[in-house]
Amino acid sequence: MNPTPPFSRRDVLRGAALAGAAGMVHPLGHAFAPLRPGLKTERVVLIVMAGGVRSRETFGSPNQIPGLVRMAREGTLYTRLRTANLGHFGASMSIVTGISEARGIRDNSRGPDPTLFEYVRKDLGLSASDVWVTTAGGAQQVNYAYGLHPDYGSKFGATTLDGDGIFNEEFKSTVKRFGVPRPLDEAQAKQVADLRRILGSGSGRTSKAALKEAEARARVEKYILSELGKGVTELRGAGSGDAKALRLARNLLSVFKPKLIGVVLQDADVAHGSFNGYSEVVRRNDAAIGELLDAIRGDETLRDSTAVIALPEFGRDADLNARRGLDHGDGSDDLRFVHGVLWGPDFRKGRVIKDDQRTIDVTPTIASLFGAKAKHSKGSILKGAFA
Ligand SMILES: [Zn+2]
Repeated sequence: MNPTPPFSRRDVLRGAALAGAAGMVHPLGHAFAPLRPGLKTERVVLIVMAGGVRSRETFGSPNQIPGLVRMAREGTLYTRLRTANLGHFGASMSIVTGISEARGIRDNSRGPDPTLFEYVRKDLGLSASDVWVTTAGGAQQVNYAYGLHPDYGSKFGATTLDGDGIFNEEFKSTVKRFGVPRPLDEAQAKQVADLRRILGSGSGRTSKAALKEAEARARVEKYILSELGKGVTELRGAGSGDAKALRLARNLLSVFKPKLIGVVLQDADVAHGSFNGYSEVVRRNDAAIGELLDAIRGDETLRDSTAVIALPEFGRDADLNARRGLDHGDGSDDLRFVHGVLWGPDFRKGRVIKDDQRTIDVTPTIASLFGAKAKHSKGSILKGAFA
């Protein structure tokens, strides 16, 4: 997107320090102490393979999923996670709230319960740049960032990035000509405004120092936008929404080193009409997860302190439908149980846990890793997760 930035990383860091003095959120990683005494994990990436993926196409076909297989070999694999709800929206919502949400597939509103993102932000006093949700797009998916609970809500919500929204072609050219913004549509303008707000709003002062701060902020902002967009707009074809969400997560890790990123995928649901298209999405997402692990391994700051957790929202029917696709409604074990995998410095290596546990246990498990409490969750910490 911006192969020869007009400033070095050092400039950006200096700018960030300047802006930091003005009360701005530090946009780049800083050294954190472990989240809970005795644990090494400092940040977590939660990948919700929404859209519905059967275990038959993941750990039942290990050749299709070398990335997840590697995660399992180096981490802990749960082979029977019971899913909470069999509608798309409610099922993924249940994973991030730790409550079996009785919400139907057409619901498109914020839930009444706090999310993992709110628990962690509130309990640890984290800023908006520490907690993110990247999505494959779709109006419903922004609702995973926070709920309507009076003790939590938007002020503790995750910052949402949508691969098809903020990094579409039009926004890309706006970023290229930063400083001469083109008119954005309402949704884009709001996303840009939100990002700016996160980066710290102007103080309204007009002194020389304030101007300098504004310059530093603009430089940091430009740097961040170009880094976050790297390799995202180029992704096309089947499953590109998911690929963008995963790439955004990777870019976020390298730019912000945030504490918590939720990645909500959805393209696997092409399965209703095409088994082959669905298999392709599973393979493509697995490859992107493999690249994410490689990026973590290749980054000194992330390597020994980052956990990745991946699970589908639910499986799919046992048998093909009349279109040679796979729906989700037969109540079979193929639908109601999924495999999930935990990878990171504090999880047991190469352990396979075959007992029934639940997808709603993921939120209390991650919260506990952070030393936060998922107060309203009905799940419990996954048994056998910690080394
Ligand atoms: Zn569906």
